Amino acid sequence: MSAETHAETALTLRPQRVPLKGLPVTAFQHPLDRQATENLKKIRGFDWLVGKFIEYGFERIDYITHIGGGIRVGPRQMSKHYAMLRECCDVLDVPEPELYVMQGGVNAFTSGHNHPFIVLETGLLELMDDDDEVMAVIAHELGHIKCGHVLYKTMARGIKPVLEIIGGSVPMIGKFVGSGIEAGLLTWSRRSELSADRAALLVMQDARPCVSMLMKLAGGTERHVQWLDAEQFLNQARAYKEGLDQSTSDRLYRFIVNMRATHPFAVERARMLDEWVHSPEYNSILAGNYSNNNGGLVKASLCPNDKCGQPTTPGNMFCGECGTPLRTH
Ligand SMILES: [Zn+2]
Repeated sequence: MSAETHAETALTLRPQRVPLKGLPVTAFQHPLDRQATENLKKIRGFDWLVGKFIEYGFERIDYITHIGGGIRVGPRQMSKHYAMLRECCDVLDVPEPELYVMQGGVNAFTSGHNHPFIVLETGLLELMDDDDEVMAVIAHELGHIKCGHVLYKTMARGIKPVLEIIGGSVPMIGKFVGSGIEAGLLTWSRRSELSADRAALLVMQDARPCVSMLMKLAGGTERHVQWLDAEQFLNQARAYKEGLDQSTSDRLYRFIVNMRATHPFAVERARMLDEWVHSPEYNSILAGNYSNNNGGLVKASLCPNDKCGQPTTPGNMFCGECGTPLRTH
């Protein structure tokens, strides 16, 4: 990419955004994501399935489907969006992936472990009427690439047909490992969103577009968009946490619903971002101090419930996994 091509694009690098050169993933990876990744690798048969996934060329099929069905964004095609991608790559220090826009719903995803590409669906572009929100979506997807999520994300999106095909050729093994891996992948996939949200915040260096993007994912409609208020949504996210702490039934409800959703609640994601934007960890990364990684700065304690034992979000009063009350210091 030449400097001249950068200059041609509509959006120039905003000097107020600090480029995070050499940023390690460990500096911002959410502890729940880290733990879920470790758990996933321990599931019996998981490595085998990853090997099969690559061997069968599912990634390649996924890639061909998208390059044949969408618009490739570049310096002369949707140049404004291309400039956003470039800026995201520069700030987050990630090699440029391909970017496509496809007809579809309110959705964006990243695929291709060795050859990553981001797809933005048109429903999502319609809904995000603010350019910074669109950029926050691109930054979130780039965060998945930065964190090395893409192979598992691709598997999580297509796990059912993949298990059917692989299970069909090796019925006993396919069936045996399938259900545990499917559940493990979906749990991991929800947690990986939390790290990608942090990556988006690190790129935007402003919580507003990240929160308003989540608000629109939660309940935005094109026609009523001017009536939405991101500040109120943030207040709702803060109240959600307070309400949860006082009510066992709410905690139980959240646990059950979260188990079934492919993404965590948008409100919960907004709350977590709101907490992180005020943390020393976030501020020291922007100040260029990321040699002390996540584990060094913020220690996540483990849930005291023996049956759970998952890491907890620092500052939370209850385990986000099982709802067990945590000791506050
Ligand atoms: Zn995501």
